[in-house]
Amino acid sequence: MARQKLGQHFLVKGAILERIAAAACPETEPLVIEIGPGRGALTGRLLPRVGRLVAIELDPALAEHLRVKFAGEPRLEILRRDALETDLGQWGPAVITGNLPYYAATPLIERVLRLRGTVRRGVFLVQKEVAQRLTAAPGSRQYGYLTVLAALLADCRYLFEVKPSAFHPPPKVDSAVVRLEPHRRMEELAIRDLEDFLRFVSRCFRQKRKTIRNNLAEMVGREALEAWPEAGLRAEQLSLEQFAGMYRRA
Ligand code: SAM
Repeated sequence: MARQKLGQHFLVKGAILERIAAAACPETEPLVIEIGPGRGALTGRLLPRVGRLVAIELDPALAEHLRVKFAGEPRLEILRRDALETDLGQWGPAVITGNLPYYAATPLIERVLRLRGTVRRGVFLVQKEVAQRLTAAPGSRQYGYLTVLAALLADCRYLFEVKPSAFHPPPKVDSAVVRLEPHRRMEELAIRDLEDFLRFVSRCFRQKRKTIRNNLAEMVGREALEAWPEAGLRAEQLSLEQFAGMYRRA
């Protein structure tokens, strides 16, 4: 992939780098995985807070730059790899963090969420719109499939916004930092098959402007749906608990 396509907007504001490192590691963490370390600005802030840091960088020139910059640093392991094709759970329970390349932020976060118990915490700098989708409340414009998936698997917090001027070169959009802390809502809601539940949620959102009655007619049957209190609502108005209730009934 061409370098400009790799989302290489490097964070240069020290105070922001420090805030991200502190959010990822409020205390010393035995194992941290950094996705897209770039030139190592966040890496340098993370190192004093970790026992071991695994940094995954796709760009070979940047991976080499990091090897030289951090030569002799025993806590750091640099892997020249595509994070989208790396099993991020292979090192065991870890904090996962990074200033994510924007083209891959959503699939990377989905992968992290699906690791569930293997992730202690995720702290990511992403496009503001993605941060809003991850933390949206039912009924808001940004609420959708990704929000429901995230709410099912983690407690998601919008931490703070980052302006384009904090980067070099500045991106065209605002950014924000989110924190994901895996929880056990799935077990509490008695959802045993994650993929099956997500297929159901995706069906509810199939045509966003249409009601549950319309989106589920084929699956549940119009007659049965008439007894559902959610039938006349749109998926974007429903909470995770309501999706779980409908799923059990369907
Ligand atoms: N962390 C650095 C910083 O804050 O200055 C750089 C962040 S930059 C937004 C994204 C980084 O991710 C770039 O260094 C880019 O080369 C790298 N990258 C892009 N796609 C990647 C992938 N699929 N796997 C691993 N790294 C990737």
